[in-house]
Amino acid sequence: MAKDDADDHLPDKDAAKEFYAKYEPKEILGRGISSTVRRCIEKETGNAYAAKIIDLSNDPNDAEGKSMLAATLEEINILRMVAGHPYIIELHDVFESSTFIFLVFELCKNGELFDYLTTVVTLSEKKTRYIMRQVFEALLHVHNMGIVHRDLKPENILLDDNLNVKLTDFGFARVVKPVEKLFDLCGTPGYLAPEVLQSNMFEDAEGYGKEVDVWACGVVMYTLLVGCPPFWHRKQMVMLRNIMEGKYSFTSPEWDDITEAPKDLIRKLLVVDPRQRISVADALTHPFFQIMQYKAREFNARRLFKFGILCVRAMVRIQRLRFTPEPLSVAVAQVDPYRVKALRKVIDACAFRVYGHWVKKGEGQNRAALFENSPKTELKQIYVSNLSR
Ligand code: ADP
Ligand code: MG
Repeated sequence: MAKDDADDHLPDKDAAKEFYAKYEPKEILGRGISSTVRRCIEKETGNAYAAKIIDLSNDPNDAEGKSMLAATLEEINILRMVAGHPYIIELHDVFESSTFIFLVFELCKNGELFDYLTTVVTLSEKKTRYIMRQVFEALLHVHNMGIVHRDLKPENILLDDNLNVKLTDFGFARVVKPVEKLFDLCGTPGYLAPEVLQSNMFEDAEGYGKEVDVWACGVVMYTLLVGCPPFWHRKQMVMLRNIMEGKYSFTSPEWDDITEAPKDLIRKLLVVDPRQRISVADALTHPFFQIMQYKAREFNARRLFKFGILCVRAMVRIQRLRFTPEPLSVAVAQVDPYRVKALRKVIDACAFRVYGHWVKKGEGQNRAALFENSPKTELKQIYVSNLSR
């Protein structure tokens, strides 16, 4: 247990004993309403994991009247159902008791997409495409299993060592039958779909289904591109009204440099009527996701040939680097031209043409002095002595 977190109450019964026998808890990675997530080391292997420790001792019923224990058991059930997908968090181990539950997950060293976005402020279209494609692929898998996530947001999208997505926090997720509708209000305000709010406000509301996750993807994608959410308002009531009316815009200056494809996809994700909203499968075939694939597949023999030539030229240049004369500046050439090997050869050649064998090497004469700008008195003597021979 990390010393700085000593004030944090750690469980000490049944499941806790088993957990501590197998794992060594380290620093806190994140917190939820009734859970703490800590990095931990598996003693036998030395591998690092993330343990979500859920406190059941103060167990109020949730929005659906379910106890925390029942909700956590449902979370475990769903985690097992969606397991085995590259973009969904893997549950490694579980320890259950009446007071605490420990869920041991694979560790995502790069933490939340939320924190990543906070450090970089906005993501390029290319990075947004990379992240959103993985989010949609994870969501397609979740929906194909008949599950609604209901709490999609950058805090619940983790990034592994290679900045690949791991969808997590299935605490609000529910298994739904194809025609079944949900009515309870759960999720995070800024990401709630209009039909979730309606279900909570009107007696005759139709309820909601998987489409709420698609709406949340629209909010996430908008936020990634410009660094601020589409419906945000400091007064929460105004924000909720904006959501109900689907009132957002691409008017901020940040949107000026963003192309049409991502805007078009966001328009199709943030559709108020869930029946008109794009499905996850259709979102994945939207032109926004086609750009990279098309470019990667396109074969252009001429461009490939040019690229090959460039590579060969670059290699030859690198190999010849040591034979390439060092660059000569005018400043150096002005001060002491004779010091530079290339110039020395030219100077000698000129000198030979002018003086022939008259100025010879090895006779104590300074040939460089012939090219010095300032006259030297001793030089005159050399000339005189040479002439007088
Ligand atoms: P809650 O239901 O309480 O929100 P989460 O499962 O979302 O619990 O976990 C809370 C936070 O803990 C996450 O937002 C994240 O910062 C951190 N966290 C959870 N799981 C992991 C993990 N596998 N690797 C790294 N950090 C994690
Ligand atoms: Mg969470």
